[in-house]
Parts: sequence; structure tokens; C-alpha cells
Amino acid sequence: MSALEDLRKEIVVCTRCKTLVASRTQVVPGDGAEDAPVMFVGEAPGFNEDKQGIPFVGQAGSFLNELLAFINLKREQIFITNIIKCRPPENREPLPYEIQNCRPWLDGQIAAIKPKVIVLLGRYAMASFLPDKSISKVHGTAQKVNGITYFAMYHPAAALYQQSLKETLKNDMLKLGAILADKPDVSETKPQTQQLSMF
Ligand code: SF4
Repeated sequence: MSALEDLRKEIVVCTRCKTLVASRTQVVPGDGAEDAPVMFVGEAPGFNEDKQGIPFVGQAGSFLNELLAFINLKREQIFITNIIKCRPPENREPLPYEIQNCRPWLDGQIAAIKPKVIVLLGRYAMASFLPDKSISKVHGTAQKVNGITYFAMYHPAAALYQQSLKETLKNDMLKLGAILADKPDVSETKPQTQQLSMF
């Protein structure tokens, strides 16, 4: 059995956040290829994800699938998860202690998959990895931190409420495609982050 599958079995019985354990239908650990070159990290499961146990299956998930198609990626070629694996009550925002509780699971998934690029979807995912950055300033750009390349994008759900973000997300996805195809040489900066000049 793979390290990722071992991890999944532990995650689905996690009880670290008492409030979320009481309100969730099931844990949504993540979905996709164990050797995915790119990993997408969102905020938290929503209503549909909680029911089905799979991340990004609602309207935002459909839009993400459309965006992936722009760069000829299919869902089964990527790995997708969230910074917390259980749906918050009434879809409220994740609380700091919930994000902290769940971080070892996310770190374990990253260690098992070893993706070339981690795409941070929305401000909560970005704040977890690039706390000194603003999504409005760095979306569509890659930053290399301690050997890992991060690429920030708005959360696809944001475009469902703000139509103008659809074009922004599409353009940013095309930039991600260029990074995955060209494998640009990203110079590493420790511990600070460095924005790629190609954008
Ligand atoms: S959110 Fe994460 S840490 Fe909290 S109960 Fe769910 S799986 Fe466990």
C-alpha cells in the first residue's frame, strides 16, 4: 500500500477538531494521482464535497475542470485537496486552530506526492504557505520557497460571484500551463520568497 493511501486511511478517521467532527458527513481527504506533477490546494469542503467525500465536485469544481482543460490537464492527472479536510458548519471560514490541526495531513500529502508545483487556490491556502503575500498582487505568479514552487490563483468559487474573475483565472491557468511545460529555472531564495520575472 502507498504512503498516500496509508495517510488517507488515517485522515478519514481524524477527530482533532471537535466542532467539525460533529457537523461533517464525512472527511474529504483529497483526490487524484499519487505521482501528480501539480497539486491544487483549496480552502475547505463545501456542501457537495461533504456529501460525496470528494473535493471540488460542485459548481466551483466544474469551473476548475474547465480551467484545467485550457492546459490539457484532466482531474485524474492532478491531486486536489484543501487546507482543512472537513466542511465547516454553514460553510463558514476555517478557524486558525482548524487550519493548524489539519496542516500535518496536508504536509504528509505533499511529502508523499512530491509535486513539482503546488497551486494555492484562494487567500486561505495562500496564507498557509505564503503568509506575507496578497492574492490580488501575486495571483498568476510562481514563487519558490525552500525548494517548492508555489503558484497562486483566486479560488474558482470566487468567479461564481464575480464574473470578471473568470478571465483572470483563465489567464492564470494558462501561465501555470507555461510553467508546467517549460519548467522555468526558478532561482531559490531562503527564507524569503521570490516572484518570477517571466510574468
Ligand atoms: S479538519 Fe482536519 S484536523 Fe480537523 S477533524 Fe477534519 S481532518 Fe481532522
